[in-house]
Amino acid sequence: MIVEKGEIRKEILKRRVSLPYSLRSSYDERIREKLVSLPEFSGAHRILLYCPVKGEPDLSPLFGLLLESGKRLVLPKVDGEELSLIEVESPLCLSKGTFNIPEPQEGVKIEPEMLELAVVPGVAFDREGFRLGFGKGYYDRLLERVRAPTVGVAYSFQVLSRVPRDSWDRPVDIVVTEKEVIRRY
Ligand code: ADP
Ligand code: MG
Repeated sequence: MIVEKGEIRKEILKRRVSLPYSLRSSYDERIREKLVSLPEFSGAHRILLYCPVKGEPDLSPLFGLLLESGKRLVLPKVDGEELSLIEVESPLCLSKGTFNIPEPQEGVKIEPEMLELAVVPGVAFDREGFRLGFGKGYYDRLLERVRAPTVGVAYSFQVLSRVPRDSWDRPVDIVVTEKEVIRRY
């Protein structure tokens, strides 16, 4: 199973980094539009987004909009084995974290149970919401504690018929791509 996950990661990441800029920016815009149109998004006040890395869809144009509309913006930060959740007031990510992952600015640490919507990136998803990450299980450990609706965002070529599943893998409720919104129920 581990080998299979590894091969899928390699293949999809290669495809994702080679996505031409013009396509990427129009896909990102469509993904953002679909995301903010979800009733789960309008209904949520404290929302987890992420600082993009390795060609992940760029949701950062939403950071400022979210703050301006009076919602709370939460961004993850690698903290040892865990993702810490930081509620920030600045819509910026800094490039200096663990594994050189861009990180949120200073803010207040919150618990996963406090989120009202969790939006997560992934290397691959399937139509039942199962998710493949970079292979360190950070989001599996986080999602275990999230009680709010969960949304995976990805380009449509990252949606596979079935992602390999291990006992600890946690699916998301909704997957948003530039083409469609996939609900697992
Ligand atoms: P990813 O989800 O990033 O693709 P995997 O699902 O392959 O990565 O998980 C990577 C590692 O994370 C696994 O070896 C697993 O032991 C560990 N892991 C995942 N979820 C948990 C959890 N809830 N508690 C403890 N370890 C976990
Ligand atoms: Mg996993």
